[in-house]
Amino acid sequence: MQIKLFNKTRWRLAAWYAMVMALILGLCGLIVYQVMIRAYLLSIDLELESVAGTLHSVIEPNLKQPGRIEPVFQLVLPNLCLADSGCPNQQIPSHSQLAHNRHGIFSAVYKDKEYYIRFVNTSLKVIAVAGLKLNELPSTIRIDVWQTLKDSQGNRYSQKSLELHTQDNQTWGYIQVGRSLKELDNRLVALKLTLAFGLPTSIFLVGASSWWLAGLAMRPIDRSYKQMQQFTSDASHELRTPLAAINATVETILDLEHLSEQEARDTFISIRRQNNRLACLVQDLLLLSRFDQKTQATDRQPCCLNDLIIDLMEEFSALASNADLEISSSLEHSQPLYVLADEDQILRLFSNLIANAIKYTPAGGYVHITLKHSTNDAVIEVKDTGIGIAPEEQVRIFDRFYRIDTARSRSNGGSGLGLAIAKAIVEVHKGSIEVQSQLGKGSTFIVRLPASGTEEELV
Ligand code: ADP
Repeated sequence: MQIKLFNKTRWRLAAWYAMVMALILGLCGLIVYQVMIRAYLLSIDLELESVAGTLHSVIEPNLKQPGRIEPVFQLVLPNLCLADSGCPNQQIPSHSQLAHNRHGIFSAVYKDKEYYIRFVNTSLKVIAVAGLKLNELPSTIRIDVWQTLKDSQGNRYSQKSLELHTQDNQTWGYIQVGRSLKELDNRLVALKLTLAFGLPTSIFLVGASSWWLAGLAMRPIDRSYKQMQQFTSDASHELRTPLAAINATVETILDLEHLSEQEARDTFISIRRQNNRLACLVQDLLLLSRFDQKTQATDRQPCCLNDLIIDLMEEFSALASNADLEISSSLEHSQPLYVLADEDQILRLFSNLIANAIKYTPAGGYVHITLKHSTNDAVIEVKDTGIGIAPEEQVRIFDRFYRIDTARSRSNGGSGLGLAIAKAIVEVHKGSIEVQSQLGKGSTFIVRLPASGTEEELV
């Protein structure tokens, strides 16, 4: 079920990511495509404008009669074909000829045969052409300044038209300079193909990498989901034990025909014990869930650790002597040491550690509590001469419901939450907790809390 949900979410994340990326890439492709077309057309237009303008300024001062081809035409355009008499010399001029051309602008017309220059009279009839052959040119004649035309083979041309005037200011006709857009069209086809194949390939790669990234991103969620599941199952198991005991007690009593007062009393005592156990467990669970939502203790006040340890010594001395243990403390700091903390929580933290030390130390041993001041921290050590903890267990004992010897812990009234709560309290006070232990020799739990100073410093 969990794997299914994990995979489904992973697929969704990857699909969304790929879709968004496809949109972004597609948009970028479109922009690049448009920018390229515009840049290319602009460069063509500038070229056409320059060629048409130069020809116009060279030819126009020599025009005498509308529609008549003057000698200057052949001078400037040696390969000019006349509509009436054909092309006198269709040979492309040599490089030296082009180089000596005094106007130096027409090499482009012949260079790659991409340009044409044609002269049109006032009745829109072509009278002379240079560059491409007459039959290769677009047949439509219009005199708009800028036009895009198509020839019979479907090739596109961009064309600039300028009006020519005779010396006595009559309209001579028009000069039209055009350039084939074949190269642009070929490049655009290549670009379209690149985009058509490149885009799906990159989307596929983006999809694959986002699938991988989604897996990585979901790993912590998966881990915490598993922890939550484990926690729920452990909590239910712990709650079930006292509930089952209460149920069994009640069933036994119901089966009895007569119940003496003493039996009834014993039954109630047993039910109360199980009920207390349940209440403690629920309280601990609530406390842990509150810690999960908080990052800092809210009710923080200066709390004197010396007084707190003295109180704890008093509280636990009876328990220790019942277990035939010696309990002592040494307060190495001459002045009372304060921490800014929630006093109830700090009390709970050390109660858990001392209760554990007593629980897991055999009779005849001792439990010792030390308070030290180290740089900015108050250091409290709870040391015992108990059963000790194996190195591989030391990292796990702070996990919720983790118990090394479940039967022993349960018989001692432990639920496996004591150290988890201790750790949560320490973390919420920005401190740290660690354990040093040797199997069979004993353990020392070391708690560091940020010290807020001595009483004099706090005043
Ligand atoms: P429990 O309620 O079982 O004591 P804790 O969270 O307090 O749960 O402790 C987790 C486990 O760590 C215990 O079950 C016990 O095995 C081990 N442990 C804790 N304190 C000590 C100690 N002072 N000496 C040896 N083992 C300890």
